[in-house]
This record gives sequence, structure tokens and C-alpha cells, in this order.
Amino acid sequence: MTTRTPLISGNWKMNLNHFEAIQTVQKLHYLVPKQVFEGVEVSIHPPFTDIRSIQTLIESEDLDFSLGAQHCHFEDSGAFTGEVSPAFLAKLNTKYVICGHSERREVFGETDEMVSKKVLAILKYEMTPILCCGETLDEREAGDMEAKVLGQIEAGLAGVSNEQIASLVIAYEPIWAIGTGKTATAEDAQAACAAVRGKVREMADDATADSVRIQYGGSVKGGNAPELMSQPDIDGALVGGASLDPDEFARVIQFAG
Ligand code: PEP
Repeated sequence: MTTRTPLISGNWKMNLNHFEAIQTVQKLHYLVPKQVFEGVEVSIHPPFTDIRSIQTLIESEDLDFSLGAQHCHFEDSGAFTGEVSPAFLAKLNTKYVICGHSERREVFGETDEMVSKKVLAILKYEMTPILCCGETLDEREAGDMEAKVLGQIEAGLAGVSNEQIASLVIAYEPIWAIGTGKTATAEDAQAACAAVRGKVREMADDATADSVRIQYGGSVKGGNAPELMSQPDIDGALVGGASLDPDEFARVIQFAG
């Protein structure tokens, strides 16, 4: 049986400038007892303008956090005004990059094809993609949840080797639960994450499927984290709103009690 260390990721979205970011990370670190990090990994995904400050803070004070980004382009460099290269993120010792978040797909028109190119670009620079998938409420009610989510997984993992898939992270995030205060029941979240793992098993093999970490995301808070995180196919959480509040995020991180 493979042991998968849970990964709790804080996606700050477009919140907190670099001064606020430093204070938030310092407070969070103060609130979480050191031994908690023996059983859980925590990544912080601030806006691009904060990343260098948070990198310096984590490295100079040897904090138990991994540095993450919320998105990147798939090209190394070029005429892409406003975009950020995966090469630049790698230079800042970024470990995780969120890829294909539903807000990027819906608001900025990211397609499965673009997400696939980003996954490959992130891996090329030896960072770990957090590949997001999830269905809308209409898709769920129409019985299309699995088709949508598993289709996103199939597209996002195209051309990725089994060894690479084994080390990456998938975030199942029902779109209707993101930022709405509505959470999937632990049972529904488990069923969806099990289906995602089943898809990886079909595309790769048993060892790969047993290694890949699958997060649940969608209004995770201190109160619902213990039940969600105790599900066999849920290996952590992608947390938006609650990650902006160090007290609440510290409770999520300490889901195991
Ligand atoms: C997210 O940003 O991916 C997310 C799940 O947000 P929230 O926790 O606020 O629902």
C-alpha cells in the first residue's frame, strides 16, 4: 500500500499584496506546531508579485512551506505580454504550479489543449503541476460529471509518462463548490476522487494510480476538512478563501487533530 503524504495548498487568487503576504505566512507558521508538518505538506500559492518575497521568507527562515504559483504560460519566453514563463518560476524554486483552475478556464478561456501544454511545460522545469478538474452544477445535474472530469484528466495527462503522473497532483474541484460556501458531501467528493484515480489506473497502471495525489477543492474550511481528508482517495485540499485567513487555514492544515 502506497503512503501518500497529504498536500494542503492555499490558492490566494488575486488577494494579498507582498507586505500582506509576508505577514500572513509568518502568522500561519506561528500557528501550526512544527510536528504537524511531519504528516502533511503545505504549499502557498500567492500572486506573482508576492512570489519572490515569499521565496525569500521561506528560505531565510527555513519555514515548512512549499512555494507554489497559480498559473504560468507554456512557452519558455517570447511575445506574450503579461504572461509568466515556467522557467522564471523554476528559478524562484517554485515547487507546485496550479494548472487549469476553473477560473482560468472560465474567465481566461484556457482550453484542455492549453492545459495539456502547461502540464508538460511545468514538468519540463521539474516543477509539479496541480492539475485541476471539475464540473458545473448543470453538468452534475445532467449526469455528466464523470464525462467532464475524466475528459479533463485524459486531456491534461496526454503525453505525460507514468513516472511523471505518479509524482503529480490532481485537484478535483466541483465548480459549484468553489467560493460558494457549498461543499460536496464527503461521500460525493470521495466518489469523484475515486473515479479520477480509476481514470489514472486505466491510462497508466496500478502503481501510478496508487501514487498520484488527489486533492479535493471547494469551500474547504477547518470544520469540514477532517471528514473530507479522512476519505481514502482524498490526499489533501486545494483551499481558496479559507487560506487567506491564517487562523482558518491553520485549522485546515491540522485536520488530523
Ligand atoms: C479554489 O480556489 O480552488 C477554491 C477551492 O476556493 P474556495 O476554497 O474558496 O472554494
